[in-house]
Amino acid sequence: MTIKSNLLAVKQQIINACFQAQRDSADVKLLAVSKTKPTSAIEAAYAEGQKDFGENYLQEAVEKIESLQHLPDICWHFIGPIQSNKTRLIAEHFSWVHSVDRLKIAQRLNEQRRSQDTPLNVCLQVNISEETTKSGATAEEIIQLAQYVAESEHLVLRGIMAIPAKNAPIEHYQKMQTLFLQLAKQYDSVDTLSLGMSNDLTQAILHGSTMVRIGTAIFGTRT
Ligand SMILES: *Cc1c(COP(=O)(O)O)cnc(C)c1O
Repeated sequence: MTIKSNLLAVKQQIINACFQAQRDSADVKLLAVSKTKPTSAIEAAYAEGQKDFGENYLQEAVEKIESLQHLPDICWHFIGPIQSNKTRLIAEHFSWVHSVDRLKIAQRLNEQRRSQDTPLNVCLQVNISEETTKSGATAEEIIQLAQYVAESEHLVLRGIMAIPAKNAPIEHYQKMQTLFLQLAKQYDSVDTLSLGMSNDLTQAILHGSTMVRIGTAIFGTRT
């Protein structure tokens, strides 16, 4: 019941932000971030029509993916930091990965994606607030990475992702929008700006986000 009403509230927030931004709310996809939450929570959201789920921790994610295989059209996104020895599990179990931030990871994902699967949808992670502790490439590195992904047989370049620092200035959102538009102009496959979490959803939508990643506002706080 709470997940149902939370989902409705988040969708209304998206509609309100789109109205403010004069955008079509159909252009903003909701990714439900289910990390640390049980499969019962995912099933509850799925029952309300939610199909896209984001996970951060690989072992946990793979267990959930396997136990929810019976749900048609469920779509899994990996959004956590990537260690190079974990790329095979990502390549074999996910439809999307939002956190590719270096060449070695892109190369391994391309090699390890099985030919019988559809190509892996890739967003490149930008370290927009330039925090040393956070993953992500610089805007300059993104240009090179984008070219590599766009030319890779088993990958599709969909766009860019960022986790702005708490209370990040507007300029960080503007930079993401500019970089996204630049890449979209260059590559036909680019249609995704993965930006916005529970606390900055409106700000992100005002700056062109096409996919918001919402955990807490749907599933409650994580312990
Ligand atoms: C946890 C997480 C989210 C969701 O954050 P909330 O604040 O709970 O909405 C979104 N994106 C990434 C990359 C995350 O790790």
